[in-house]
Amino acid sequence: MSGPRPVVLSGPSGAGKSTLLKKLLKDYEGVFGFSVSHTTRNPRPGEEDGKDYHFTTREAMQEGIDKGDFIENAEFSGNMYGTSKSSVEDVRAKNLICILDVDIQGVRNIKQTDLDPIYVSIQPPSMEILEKRLRDRQTETEESLQKRLEAARIDMEESNEPGVFDLVIVNDDLDEAYEKLKNVLLEEIQKVQEANKS
Ligand code: ADP
Ligand code: 5GP
Repeated sequence: MSGPRPVVLSGPSGAGKSTLLKKLLKDYEGVFGFSVSHTTRNPRPGEEDGKDYHFTTREAMQEGIDKGDFIENAEFSGNMYGTSKSSVEDVRAKNLICILDVDIQGVRNIKQTDLDPIYVSIQPPSMEILEKRLRDRQTETEESLQKRLEAARIDMEESNEPGVFDLVIVNDDLDEAYEKLKNVLLEEIQKVQEANKS
């Protein structure tokens, strides 16, 4: 499929991916579209089905995977997550830059496809700050928080391997991180803005 290149945002849970991507979606209406993933985890307060995630059951999701409906899927912190083909196609059909928020397993699996996205990793300044952000967010049980911190250790190690990401952004100051993210996407943003003019 032609059109602007998609963007994969990855990085530890709590690093600030949703915060940054929501800012992009708000500041650039008509430029970006979010690929809504499927998950078996429960919705957090304020999350909407079909907007933040397609909340589903393990059985239904496995059935979709078996039918070949998913580009990639992974187990994270005791739940299933996955990107359906239609979630990406819906955004790309509108000629928008498709943003995917996936974990490091998703990154590796997407590399096996022909999606050809720009890969950006959002990292926290330190494990201590990550833990504080996750605790302050008040969305996780102690068990889920510990699983996320464990996954974060693996993510932080693997994300620095050469060639995995086009850019690794340390999200210390939010505005600075956002500027860096915008900069790496500038070319694609301009393409869509030009196309919108004509
Ligand atoms: P993710 O989507 O990567 O799991 P979130 O975007 O939910 O992470 O961010 C985790 C928490 O940290 C949220 O409560 C968010 O408001 C906060 N946060 C994000 N970026 C920053 C930052 N640069 N400085 C301080 N707090 C931040
Ligand atoms: P959360 O439960 O905090 O929303 O997400 C937990 C982790 O799952 C995050 O690292 C997020 O990037 C990842 N994730 C969300 N959707 C998908 C997906 O469709 N595929 C994969 N592989 N990971 C996902």
